[in-house]
Amino acid sequence: MLRIGIGNDTHRLVDGRPLILGGVHIPSERGAAGHSDADTLCHAIADAILGALCEGDLGVHFPDRDPQWKDADSLQLLSRVMWLASGRGLHIVNVDATVMLESPKLRPYVLSMRENISEILEVDPGCVSVKAKTGEGLGEIGQGLAVTAQAVVLMTSV
Ligand SMILES: [Zn+2]
Repeated sequence: MLRIGIGNDTHRLVDGRPLILGGVHIPSERGAAGHSDADTLCHAIADAILGALCEGDLGVHFPDRDPQWKDADSLQLLSRVMWLASGRGLHIVNVDATVMLESPKLRPYVLSMRENISEILEVDPGCVSVKAKTGEGLGEIGQGLAVTAQAVVLMTSV
């Protein structure tokens, strides 16, 4: 059995918050606002896995009113979603994700993100693609107001 899922996630960028993507702390003047650590990339991938399982979205499983998830490490959240998938006998074939952020440039951090995520997803880093784009100065991404991520995941029971 093959299952496919799509996910996306957006956080506002604000002063006084860390910027964490794929479990990597990225030096930045502004960080992502949110209840957990606001790791947009992990959230998009977790959302895609939940989509493949037909299990609703991230907010259903990790309500932002729940103190348990305050400043939570989103790699742990991703791990919980993988636990759900494993319970269904599903594992990851590959993930393709795109992060959109105007600055800083993410390329130096992409390999570390892929390593962190692939460890949680129990696949080779070669099965986790992370791409970085800017908003070319346009819209809320281009103006540095937000960070957003999209992810597609393919899962198999074989
Ligand atoms: Zn999020």
